Amino acid sequence: MSDIEKTKVAIIGSGPAGWTAAIYTARANLSPIIFEGLQPGGQLTITTEVENYPGFPEGVQGPDLMMQFKAQAMRFETVCYSENIVKVDFSSRPFKIWSDNREVHTDSIIIATGATARYLGLPGEEAYYNKGISACATCDGFFFRGKDVVVIGGGDSAVEEATFLTRFCNEVTLIHRRDELRASKIMAKRALEHETLKIRWNSSVVGYHGDDNGVIRAVTLKDTVTGEEVEKEVQGVFMGIGHKPNTEIFQGLLDMDEAGYLITQDNNTYTNIDGVFACGDVQDTVYRQAITASGTGCMAAIDAERWLESQES
Ligand code: NAP
Repeated sequence: MSDIEKTKVAIIGSGPAGWTAAIYTARANLSPIIFEGLQPGGQLTITTEVENYPGFPEGVQGPDLMMQFKAQAMRFETVCYSENIVKVDFSSRPFKIWSDNREVHTDSIIIATGATARYLGLPGEEAYYNKGISACATCDGFFFRGKDVVVIGGGDSAVEEATFLTRFCNEVTLIHRRDELRASKIMAKRALEHETLKIRWNSSVVGYHGDDNGVIRAVTLKDTVTGEEVEKEVQGVFMGIGHKPNTEIFQGLLDMDEAGYLITQDNNTYTNIDGVFACGDVQDTVYRQAITASGTGCMAAIDAERWLESQES
């Protein structure tokens, strides 16, 4: 473990929210320290083409976009550690955070640890990421124009994604393991009354089948009541089974909702602890887009800067 380092602002997480917070705090002369975490660059590094991030009329590869975010932050005085924060102590100021290699004392903290989409966890599933399997219809729906797809889940996310996909796809089937939707009443009604959206009740995806190029061509569906299995030809599988916010190390310290998302005040990024701010998907259950994460990353940086200034006066 190296000597204790001190900073005015530490940023935990390196997706669009974390890097945007770094760019803004660095340009405010706060010399931030950013911890990239276990998945440097966040969820965009496991996507391919990004066509909805403004400023890239031809589209951009997710990993390239994140490298550009990083390069922009590193152009100013940002210190970056490719390490994961494993422990925090917010009980007194300066706050203390630890990675496996170092201890940092910081006057303020910006949490941008993101959320991770849940996948089914079936054997071989990862090989189909970006080859037919997606966890974001808003991001990838356009690539499935005219195709047949299934959306897995029965909550608001699944219903929203499935309804959205009916605009592009030839056939959209919602696959739900029970016979009743979990989605809010209004969203469920919209799905049930939808003209083209199909719903397959009591059904689970239990297997994937790829073509010669390793791209999804079919799924095996199992009836959760009878156990009967059938193969369904599809070119796309969308996960709508929820996200897991990356907030384990903040349990018991910061206010969270039932699912573990950090709760921030309305219209700003303040958490329940003064000097601790949260931005991006770790506090967003609604939008979850790179551009909105960047937006709240900017907000967190400005909130932290102003808060630090108020502590000096
Ligand atoms: P969710 O409400 O937890 O729903 C997850 C769905 O996936 C459930 O229907 C669940 O089935 C199913 N599921 C979970 N694990 C599964 C598995 N291994 N295999 C098959 N199915 C599985 O998650 P969410 O839909 O992402 O919503 C999360 C929160 O965000 C909610 O509070 C929601 O209201 C909110 N949200 C809001 C909006 C909006 O307001 N526009 C949009 C999206 C999300 P069971 O029903 O059987 O448990």
